[in-house]
Amino acid sequence: MSKGNINVSVENIFPLIKKFLYSDHEIFLRELISNATDATTKLKHLISIGEAKVELGDAKIEINIDKDAKTLTIKDQGLGMTAEEVEKYINQIAFSGAEEFLEKYKDDKNETGVIGHFGLGFYSAFMVADKVEIITKSFKGDKAAHWTCDGSPEYTLVEHDKEGRGTEIILHIAEDSTEFLEDGKISGLLTKYNRFNQVPIKFGTKEETLPLPEGAAEDVTPEKVTVDNIINNTNPAWTKKPADLEDEDYTNFYRELYPMQFEESLFHIHLNVDYPFNLTGILYFPKLSQNMDMQKDRIQLYQNQVFVTDNVEGIVPDFLQMLKGVIDSPDIPLNVSRSYLQADGAVKKISGYITKKVADKLSSLFKNNREDFEAKWNDIKVIIEYGMLSEEKFFDKAKKFALYPTVDDTYFTFDELLEKTKDAQTDKDGNHIVLYAANKDAQHGYIQDAKEKGYEILLLDSPIVSHLMQKLETSNDKVKFTRVDADHIDNLIKKDDTVISKLSDEEKETLKPMIEASVPKETYTVQLEAMDSNASPFLITVPEFMRRMKEMNATGGGMMGMGNLPEMYNLVVNTNHELVGEILNTKTEKKRNRLINQAFDLAKLSQNLLHGEELTNFIKRSYDLIK
Ligand code: ADP
Ligand code: MG
Repeated sequence: MSKGNINVSVENIFPLIKKFLYSDHEIFLRELISNATDATTKLKHLISIGEAKVELGDAKIEINIDKDAKTLTIKDQGLGMTAEEVEKYINQIAFSGAEEFLEKYKDDKNETGVIGHFGLGFYSAFMVADKVEIITKSFKGDKAAHWTCDGSPEYTLVEHDKEGRGTEIILHIAEDSTEFLEDGKISGLLTKYNRFNQVPIKFGTKEETLPLPEGAAEDVTPEKVTVDNIINNTNPAWTKKPADLEDEDYTNFYRELYPMQFEESLFHIHLNVDYPFNLTGILYFPKLSQNMDMQKDRIQLYQNQVFVTDNVEGIVPDFLQMLKGVIDSPDIPLNVSRSYLQADGAVKKISGYITKKVADKLSSLFKNNREDFEAKWNDIKVIIEYGMLSEEKFFDKAKKFALYPTVDDTYFTFDELLEKTKDAQTDKDGNHIVLYAANKDAQHGYIQDAKEKGYEILLLDSPIVSHLMQKLETSNDKVKFTRVDADHIDNLIKKDDTVISKLSDEEKETLKPMIEASVPKETYTVQLEAMDSNASPFLITVPEFMRRMKEMNATGGGMMGMGNLPEMYNLVVNTNHELVGEILNTKTEKKRNRLINQAFDLAKLSQNLLHGEELTNFIKRSYDLIK
């Protein structure tokens, strides 16, 4: 028997370990299972290169709870350790590893949110146990070793008569951690961290009903057998070659990953690189819904099939965090803070790679099946538009496949749109005006007017599209986006043919104050225009610049303070309309005001601005007028 002191420089590391990241105590299980997995895969490797002359068998990891003894055991059939190796790996290396880890993170563990805590390793067992035993027998055949440590720097190491190869870690669960003796708790943790573990994990047994033999009579009771309860899938889809997978396999994996998600995904992207870093994974474009819970079913980060986190901030570019799926990389440094992670060269490359793969996939979907791509556009546009705004490299690729749907459900790329509209929609100053609507119903009248002129009207209704327009205008000189209700149609795209005004300048000067007297001037600016006599007499417009700045403010960005501007409108009065002539020539003030109010209300109505008392008055007045 040997006794000894673990080489301690921190007076007592165990209280420190116990305190470390209270909420993360549960990671001890992941650490010990990772060690058991390593021991098994290492042995497999040694066998494959002929260095270990043993049979692997169906090496699995077993987790056992003994409620009476208050122990939790993690048992593997991996390469095991000799007594010397226990001395070296557990007493020296693992210990100094844990010590170093704690030293490094004792100050910043709270504010930086260390992601994953790989590295604390074996000694994380002391977060939940007040005594830990290791019983291990090396594949090399020496006598088994039995190491015991009760949380003081003292340990004992003696021989043991364990027969089978491998390691058993016995945790004597501490009084304050008895939750880890509950089946439900352990099975929850196994599902969270290890459901795609590389080595099968057995947690208890389960009953399975055997299929009835062929031709069996109906009343035969099917036979039941007790089988190992294996909690993991050791070969998840992302570890396979894309060529070996069918669409259905991807759909099935989506369901496996998010059993509570009933919406199917739109398409997937299989990630697979081994240079200059290792990364595999599958990303899915989900169907985005209005009130989607962004915290649910997020992208999961794995390291060699062990779950690390579902917060991939810093690793996956922001705009792709709405995607679903898995990424797995041994190259992501997990023991560092997020700010450090963002600056890490390898991580930057990973983020760039993912962006590129997503862009390439979208581009090939667009090229190979445009119809299908158009059908999916509404579900994916927010992600793409967000990407175009936030990643210049993505913008350069996406501008070739980003779509701009019209109110008639035709989908143009930006280049196609410019080509299609350049003749009709270039104004006298050479500005190429792109017309759009945000709501087909609300802007119906304006859309009709624009259509009559033969213009194309886009339907742009995603929340950040105002920012995108701003960007497209900046990168395409002379291109201007204007919403159809920003002005009268003749003013939206000004051509040379000016319409002659029926009213003289004098008459206009009389008319303007008449109208101004009836409309609230804090909100409306009256503007007389000589327009087509068939166009509406009164028209309410929202200047493009103002509206867009307000919208951009609402979604973040735009010019400072513009969001607080009051609602401002233009009231465009068509001096060539018969009704306007009549207003001017009506002698009694009462009758004239009635005409002005009625026309003004109608204009408001077409912009959905007539509500409450104003609406009630309008209805009353309308009945009076027709009776
Ligand atoms: P790490 O896994 O990062 O090396 P750990 O503290 O988790 O650090 O483990 C330290 C060492 O102890 C391992 O590298 C390994 O050599 C040994 N070890 C731990 N658990 C086992 C096990 N189940 N079987 C064999 N060796 C083990
Ligand atoms: Mg380890």
